[in-house]
Amino acid sequence: AAKERGKGRYAVYDAELEQHHALDAQLGAELRQALDAGGFSLVYQPIVHAPDGEWASLETLVRWHHPERGTIPPDTFIRIAERTGLIVPLGDWIMRTACRQAADWLDRFGDAAPPAVAVNVSARQLREPGFAVDVAQALHAAGLAPDRLTVEVTETAVFEGGSTLDTLHALADLGVGIALDDFGTGHSSLGLLRTCPAQTLKLDKSFVDSICGGSQESVIAAALIQITDGLHLDAVAEGVETAEQAAALRRLGYRYLQGYLFARPMTPDLVEARLHAGHRQAA
Ligand code: C2E
Ligand code: MG
Ligand code: MG
Ligand code: MG
Repeated sequence: AAKERGKGRYAVYDAELEQHHALDAQLGAELRQALDAGGFSLVYQPIVHAPDGEWASLETLVRWHHPERGTIPPDTFIRIAERTGLIVPLGDWIMRTACRQAADWLDRFGDAAPPAVAVNVSARQLREPGFAVDVAQALHAAGLAPDRLTVEVTETAVFEGGSTLDTLHALADLGVGIALDDFGTGHSSLGLLRTCPAQTLKLDKSFVDSICGGSQESVIAAALIQITDGLHLDAVAEGVETAEQAAALRRLGYRYLQGYLFARPMTPDLVEARLHAGHRQAA
């Protein structure tokens, strides 16, 4: 009987797995169509100065508007885009659009414009030969100064080694900022801080979630500030949702904060409404 049940379980498992793969393949094909059909858009979430809430930069986050399924979150489709290689042309579109957007805001709003944008870049893009040249071209085409752009990469992507570190050094040589995203969740190695030309660490949301009350996470978050201060790196805490978390992070010495407490990711229209209202500040 146990064997029967076991067999049954595998059958169910196989069916689910197959469905999953079928959906992936379908989504992969639909991603490709969406890229040609203008099915993606970008939203922007402020990274704010901890003391006054002023926008230090805006992180670019991609959205996929699926004709039947509605808006699909990047956590679902980036993975598929990476596997199918579509992340390369999609990522190129994201980079060019974000650079143009940042340059446009600087033209129109001057000193009141967001000072910089951050763009997430996946491991697959970093491995692509000529990636740094493509970024230089995107900046040039947009007329955006390199120091107005930061690329966000995960520790795991950097850890993969190979040409990735060379690419990051080439980007840093251009004057583009490098941020280590989701710090503390991947193949965290402090050795990475010696070899990777990052100026910024982004403490992952999972630490911020339990930052209050002397937790293990708060001890690690505090130790990271010692390291970033000592190495003259910037520390950003991501996913800040409550005033208590913000207060705890400020006390620890985090100079930059990001999260729903300050602002959700915003469409360009909403960003501009904020800029017109004369405050680059979080609500
Ligand atoms: P990430 O780069 O770590 O981005 C932070 C994610 O947390 C975003 O989700 C953001 O909307 C969300 N977030 C920000 N503040 C809060 C908060 O206070 N509470 C909660 N619950 N969530 C918050 P999103 O936009 O769904 O993106 C998820 C991930 O997908 C990103 O994580 C990034 O790894 C990836 N991604 C997004 N856009 C791009 C892109 O253009 N290119 C690539 N390669 N990856 C992207
Ligand atoms: Mg990010
Ligand atoms: Mg992040
Ligand atoms: Mg994260």
